Amino acid sequence: MSDECLFCKIAAGEIPANVVYEDDDVVVFEEINPQAPHHLVVIPREHIATLNDLEPRHEALFGKLATTATKLAAERGFDSAGFRLVVNCNSAGGQTVFHIHMHLLGGRSLTWPPG
Ligand code: 5GP
Ligand code: ZN
Repeated sequence: MSDECLFCKIAAGEIPANVVYEDDDVVVFEEINPQAPHHLVVIPREHIATLNDLEPRHEALFGKLATTATKLAAERGFDSAGFRLVVNCNSAGGQTVFHIHMHLLGGRSLTWPPG
């Protein structure tokens, strides 16, 4: 855990969030500023700052972010209609919280390309 990291604090329960799923590896909570009818943030409990900091030992954990998000899309009934998983990296990628996370966006038609 990083002492100054917002998402580490959410994972530890030190800062409140609407947590919708958690286990030993991952925590999922509702986005504070949702960009779609369903917008969840999927994080690993381990503090990994950005995609650039992923190591081979993280491959299963990073995969679990995607499988957890996809299960939640199915539980919420928008898997067949479609959805989007997004991981922003550093400033040009639009990252604002430096604890790696996957956005799950669903419940509306999303446009492409992104801004
Ligand atoms: P990023 O821009 O780094 O890809 O995504 C970080 C996301 O975290 C943003 O969409 C932002 O709205 C969200 N966020 C920032 N602070 C909080 C918070 O305290 N609680 C929750 N639930 N989301 C947050
Ligand atoms: Zn962190």
